[in-house]
Amino acid sequence: MKDKFYITTPIYYTNAKPHIGHAYTTIACDVLARWNREKLGKENVFFLTGTDEHGAKIEKKAKEEGRQPQEFVDGFAEIFQDLWKQLNISNDGFIRTTSPAHKAAVQKVLQTLYDNGSIYKGSYKGQYCMGCEQFKSENELVDGKCPDHNAIPEEMEEECYLMKMNVHQETLINKIKSDEFKIQPERYKKEILSFLESQKLEDVSISRKNLAWGIPLPFDSEHTTYVWIDAFLNYLTGIGWDGDVKKVPEFWPADIEMIGKDILRVHATIWAATLLNLGLELPKSFVVHGHIQSGGKKMSKTLGNVIGIDVQLATS
Ligand SMILES: [Zn+2]
Repeated sequence: MKDKFYITTPIYYTNAKPHIGHAYTTIACDVLARWNREKLGKENVFFLTGTDEHGAKIEKKAKEEGRQPQEFVDGFAEIFQDLWKQLNISNDGFIRTTSPAHKAAVQKVLQTLYDNGSIYKGSYKGQYCMGCEQFKSENELVDGKCPDHNAIPEEMEEECYLMKMNVHQETLINKIKSDEFKIQPERYKKEILSFLESQKLEDVSISRKNLAWGIPLPFDSEHTTYVWIDAFLNYLTGIGWDGDVKKVPEFWPADIEMIGKDILRVHATIWAATLLNLGLELPKSFVVHGHIQSGGKKMSKTLGNVIGIDVQLATS
């Protein structure tokens, strides 16, 4: 497919209502999608958004409210979809990570990565922030706390599966340098390059034990897959990919993946490594944006300093 344009928002986490930050990203993508439809024709443009619906935070919140996780995320997925309708967003697809097709594709990918040696069993020990759902390295902490959540991470060690991260690191660096995989604005390209060139990436844990609300690993049902891997694959399953590396949809690679600066590093490392480990093309570009702040900090559902959109709509 030659003159096509495929653009994505990140998928939004369904543990609270959308705020104006979600609308900012989605409207920016909407503008680019509409402009490209004028240039290339409607059928050659695909604009994807959706919701990220698995993980420990959701399991915990649903439990607190005495609800089943699926019922809990169904409610939020509907709120997001309704909101985009109200804002006249022209998305061509809406991917939900709890959809059966997405889950089946993720399992197929996990099996492929396991079979080709990219995923192996090991263990991981570290400081785990519940808010981030991530192990935190020492240099990410401020006064021993996660700066995004103002919380002391918990010491955790567990058996897990890991994905190899540095097999294709040189390739990744070269693709970023040459703009074959373009990260813009320029300062974010520099930031990522200096990060990638200063160290060998450590392998990342891609599974959890004792977390029911996730996609089970096809080769070890005691584990479910780590929320990031599940979430990243939306960019492919959202255009109908079933996980078969020999049959990738024509819209791939994405022309633009629009992301906030807080998720640049995981995209440029974990998502990129996943694709390279699968032998698939990287997105053509990431467009990275800053955050609308509230009280001097990034708006975050976890911090509770959020400016909601329902309020904005009600007063407009
Ligand atoms: Zn955190």
